[in-house]
Amino acid sequence: MFAIDFDGTVADMGSAKAAWIEGEMGLRLNPWECDRTSCIARIGEDAYFRMIAEVNTVETSRRLRPIEGALAALPKLAARGRVEIVTARKGDEVGWAEDWLRHHGVGDSISALHSAHGTSKIELALRRGLTWLVDDDARHLDDVERNELRQIHLRVGRPDAQARGGGAARPFPATSWSDVLRRMGL
Ligand SMILES: [Mg+2]
Repeated sequence: MFAIDFDGTVADMGSAKAAWIEGEMGLRLNPWECDRTSCIARIGEDAYFRMIAEVNTVETSRRLRPIEGALAALPKLAARGRVEIVTARKGDEVGWAEDWLRHHGVGDSISALHSAHGTSKIELALRRGLTWLVDDDARHLDDVERNELRQIHLRVGRPDAQARGGGAARPFPATSWSDVLRRMGL
């Protein structure tokens, strides 16, 4: 039923990236601007990948705070259907995400955890028969209308009035997990 991204959607990787960017570059970005697509637009590819090399460690992963509302939302989703984490993480990083979910008491809400590295999250979700995809990075989403897979672009804390309206916008823009659950009719 539900394909849920991990970094920036469930675990607050954005704050870890923003802290590195402020420390190394003296630039203050909001956590919701630190998904790969938005962040590269702000700091460039070289700085982005230098940051990723330093931030993608087991210690940082373990210390990530939950995204507001995510830990309460996952069991609610799990009560309605399968929840599968679909992450761009690869190799050991996927296991670190699994440890994080278990440590935060939501391991039982997750039916499966997939690495979408090198493949499309949309295709993976469709292949798995999942009907919703929630992600903080626009590169994993598209604006194609599909009844079988509805997409939500979640950027928690983004103070953008336009992002709240939604309407017919695709993917549906959400600024909180409450928005996501409302959109799903939960
Ligand atoms: Mg993400």
